[in-house]
Amino acid sequence: MAIDDATAALDYRRLAELGIGAAALRALSPVGAPTVNERHPRVRSAAVTAASLRAAAVAGSVVDPEIPVLTVADLGVLRRVEVHDDRSVEVDITPTYSGCPAVEAMASDIRRSLQDAGYPRADVRTVLWPAWSTDDMTDTAREMLQRFGIAPPGPVAAADGPITLTLAVRCPHCGSRRTRQTSRFGSTSCKAMYICDDCAEPFDHFKAL
Ligand SMILES: [Zn+2]
Repeated sequence: MAIDDATAALDYRRLAELGIGAAALRALSPVGAPTVNERHPRVRSAAVTAASLRAAAVAGSVVDPEIPVLTVADLGVLRRVEVHDDRSVEVDITPTYSGCPAVEAMASDIRRSLQDAGYPRADVRTVLWPAWSTDDMTDTAREMLQRFGIAPPGPVAAADGPITLTLAVRCPHCGSRRTRQTSRFGSTSCKAMYICDDCAEPFDHFKAL
């Protein structure tokens, strides 16, 4: 298959389809078709190439400094990876929520990982649009949060819809839904603090946004 390695870009949804998320570098098969970001169709995407897949796998495997079980790819913050030549790569990431300091740490970790992987010119930009939503998280991210003792976010549609639903947050320790919020802000402002009435364990809930 002919691969256009001159300018290659992809979006993280395409990565998820290709099974590149929490796993670090794996055997990458060249894919030549242009991609469309389904959730954000106006996000620029071009051909997926072996070079862009490799760079995206490196960038996507960087972990969230606040929740180290989550990778950049699983969080869904990777918006664009474009390889210009063998040594230069551009990456766009989007902050997980307004004011989240993690994005700066993530950007420098991605830059360092790409440099270690042989891209001396790694440019990591933060893009604010389209805004990140907890719906961008992969199912793997939700599972990892649960295992980390953090109740994962519910779907944004339920939180935002015309009918106000108060969905019970499931305790990540014992699975009980007899839980209640004790503070709107947990260890970081993207989380709320809860307590379980069954096992009496406190836990963080990643808010849907
Ligand atoms: Zn519990």
